[in-house]
Amino acid sequence: MKRSGRNGFRFFKGEMNAQALRWLALETRLRRAIEREELALHYQPQVSRIDGSVVGMEALLRWRSEEIGAVPPGDFIPLAEDTGLIHPIGEWVIRRACFQNKAWQNAGLAPVRVAVNVSANQFKSGAVCAIVRKALADSGLAPRYLEVELTESVMLGDSAAAEAQMAELRAMGVSLSLDDFGTGYSSLGYLSRFPLDKLKIDQTFVRNITTEGRSAAIAQATIALAQGLSLSVVAEGVETVGQRDFLGLIGCDVMQGYLYSRPVPAHEMAQLLAKGRVA
Ligand code: C2E
Ligand code: CA
Ligand code: CA
Ligand code: CA
Repeated sequence: MKRSGRNGFRFFKGEMNAQALRWLALETRLRRAIEREELALHYQPQVSRIDGSVVGMEALLRWRSEEIGAVPPGDFIPLAEDTGLIHPIGEWVIRRACFQNKAWQNAGLAPVRVAVNVSANQFKSGAVCAIVRKALADSGLAPRYLEVELTESVMLGDSAAAEAQMAELRAMGVSLSLDDFGTGYSSLGYLSRFPLDKLKIDQTFVRNITTEGRSAAIAQATIALAQGLSLSVVAEGVETVGQRDFLGLIGCDVMQGYLYSRPVPAHEMAQLLAKGRVA
């Protein structure tokens, strides 16, 4: 069986164990999720610390299966990666985010950029530039209102190909941000080489920022690095006023986290956009 490396994907005396059967059942359901319209995007605002205004948003995928209910992305994204389903699902995400953002703009809401997550496998397929180009053309969304979030793992392996695709997206006018910064395995050298616009400080550092010197030091160094390289910086997973204030002191002005808003369905995001601010 091809996914023998994963837990549960092993045959025992010609029989699959219960875990493998569960995964297969989940895969079958995920395979039908797009056509059954079980996928949705929720949106989490990115907020200016200074005045509470909504300066951007991240699209986050949600799956509500008819049979088994809501499945968290942490459970089905790895399965999608393993099975290749990440490609059609990822394309759906990009198109949905572009069409939704354009619809909000058409409705007269103040335009903000929408960020979509693109996984390393998806990016390395080489198809993302064409998918983005077509999604922008079909939806009519201006490229400056789309951001692609990548993780450090896209820089591993054939980094020349990754660099070329990133340059192509940038040339289109799409922004690039580096998600979960500091949690991957890449070296800092890629920061000068790859054409990025933004770093996202990972929530693991934000979580302990007021209690743990090491996390605070990493956050502070990330902000200094971003400033030195003329990149913008967003802190994610901001849950408390203490975290927000600390991040402010060390120079981070854009925040994303439960303190401001959870990821919300599109109709609630429209209300936040209409107000222009959270709370
Ligand atoms: P991520 O890209 O790092 O997204 C941030 C995650 O942190 C989201 O979890 C979000 O709901 C959560 N979060 C936001 N604010 C807070 C906070 O203040 N505290 C805490 N504890 N968590 C917060 P979610 O939506 O469950 O997504 C988990 C991961 O699944 C994402 O991590 C991303 O890696 C992946 N994912 C989600 N949507 C997509 C997608 O469309 N495509 C791909 N390839 N991956 C996706
Ligand atoms: Ca993200
Ligand atoms: Ca992240
Ligand atoms: Ca993450």
